[in-house]
Amino acid sequence: MSKETRATPQKSASTPASATVSTPPPPANRSLKDRGNLFEIATKQIEKAARAIDMDPDVWAILAQPKNELITHFPVRMDDGRFEMFKGYRVQHNNLLGPFKGGLRFHQEANLDEMKALAAWMTYKCALHDIPFGGAKGGVKCNPSQLSTRELERVARRFTHALGNNIGAEWDIPAPDVGTNEQVMVWMMDTYMNVVGQMEKNSVRRIVTGKTIAAGGSHGRREATGQGVVHCISEWALEHSKSLDGMHFIVQGFGNVGSYTARLLTKMGAVLVGTGDAGGYIANPEGINPHKLGEHVVKHGTVAGYSNAAALSRGEFFSLDAEIFVPAALELEIGPEEARALKCELIVEGANGPTYPEGEEILLERGVHIIPDILANSGGVVVSYYEWLQNKRSERWERAEVQDRLERRMQKTYAHVRQYAAKRKIDWRTACYGIALERMQTAYHERGIFP
Ligand code: NAD
Repeated sequence: MSKETRATPQKSASTPASATVSTPPPPANRSLKDRGNLFEIATKQIEKAARAIDMDPDVWAILAQPKNELITHFPVRMDDGRFEMFKGYRVQHNNLLGPFKGGLRFHQEANLDEMKALAAWMTYKCALHDIPFGGAKGGVKCNPSQLSTRELERVARRFTHALGNNIGAEWDIPAPDVGTNEQVMVWMMDTYMNVVGQMEKNSVRRIVTGKTIAAGGSHGRREATGQGVVHCISEWALEHSKSLDGMHFIVQGFGNVGSYTARLLTKMGAVLVGTGDAGGYIANPEGINPHKLGEHVVKHGTVAGYSNAAALSRGEFFSLDAEIFVPAALELEIGPEEARALKCELIVEGANGPTYPEGEEILLERGVHIIPDILANSGGVVVSYYEWLQNKRSERWERAEVQDRLERRMQKTYAHVRQYAAKRKIDWRTACYGIALERMQTAYHERGIFP
């Protein structure tokens, strides 16, 4: 099938060969279904916290399963004129504290258990920050790099149509995640706006967050998740009297979260010595310029083949000498083997669910500090909340205002987690869930269940 324009640039014959490449990298991809059931793993993590706070079993019973699970099959007209059926998901975990909120993932291995886990993490992420949102997640089982731009647009618009009233500006608000971006959000917003009728059109602009600025997005949203990761790292450095200047770090995944984390950390003097994505892994002990690497990724769709770094295997990547590791790709990447290989002092989970409980146990025994996903990557939903508020109030905040608010909120929540963990002598993941679960338990106890 001929494609007019590709949504994501493909590795092509014109990809320049790396000057320092000695051996071709082995495949970086491991199938998600071989990694284990993400929802069971998430439940295990959260149950540990529920036990630690001696949670009311009735409240835990409500939170242990999502409220709604939607699977929809919808047709899309492809560029060659035929219809293709796509499978879409939206899991709404909980809306006790506010409307359901969470990203949309376009990925060939998207599946229900993954969505359930990601939706639950959104609930606890928002509760941890005391943001008045609940948790949801969704997506479409498709490989966006195999779709033309026009096909991607039709998938986004048809999916929005298929979701219908299952999303809403005060009900369930999607955002970008793996395989989706600002443009996908704008197509979704436009589709939704055009079916609600003229009078309501502008009042539903906040149906999605993570939009372009021109379409009503917020300054600072694009880099917000990476910025939040970097605020956590700054707080950690302050806490441990360390300077980030000259500190080595590695990042797995060089998409939105990974690339902005790398750019912002480099700005503070830290040195990116290794990275990798679905196309392969690269390293340079002298440092990799994340801006130039970003340009390479825009052209070639992967970090592989970048000329100022050597190719290496996934296993070699995990053994690189670096003080900080930021996983920012997919889930379940750090098992026992990786946990033993990693040489870092700090792991900051840009990705959702990158660490297996067994891997975490080894890391904690080894004294590696982990800043867990629901804190580390929460900058995205914090600024999504600001975007939603700006749309709701018909306001446009200055970039500096968004950045200031994000920094203060990240610092406040970081300090809360640190104190909570120290007081109870528990690990930080359990502390993050503990804070979130306690907030939700209080709300359930006060409200009861209707009728
Ligand atoms: P993205 O699509 O922009 O980038 C994903 C990156 O992961 C790409 O570089 C891709 O090549 C890489 N990748 C995919 N499969 C891989 C594999 N098998 N091995 C190595 N690398 C692989 O996505 P993103 O928005 O940057 O999201 C990355 C992670 O951060 C996800 O876990 C997501 O849920 C989480 N997250 C994202 C946001 C956000 O605002 N975008 C917010 C919170 C959490």
